[in-house]
Amino acid sequence: MAYKDSSKLLPPPSANDIISVANALNTLKDVKTTWIIGKISLTPGQQKFWFEACENCQKAINVDVGWVMRCPSCKEESRVVARTRVGIAVDDGTGSINTVIFGLDAEKLIPFTTLQFWEAHTR
Ligand SMILES: [Zn+2]
Repeated sequence: MAYKDSSKLLPPPSANDIISVANALNTLKDVKTTWIIGKISLTPGQQKFWFEACENCQKAINVDVGWVMRCPSCKEESRVVARTRVGIAVDDGTGSINTVIFGLDAEKLIPFTTLQFWEAHTR
């Protein structure tokens, strides 16, 4: 399953498409995306829950938020925005897998917006 535009949320999967975490750990060497279900917890030791990203293509960039730059990834002139990135572990009893959730996916799971994370970090 392609997950090319990560700014769009995918529709929920059917139950048949969800595999166990143990199964996912075995297949993720070959398969890049999969559906899993489980209890999530924050990965400890995270310094911040956002990163600087190109507003146009959403790729990470090492430029301060608010700047306008020529993006090296998409080559467009674009604003630098804060984008949510939260490391989580998903555990379903068969195993635990570390993953990262971005943008709208993350904001659905946690009660803060990127802007709130960014403001908390910079003030
Ligand atoms: Zn870009």
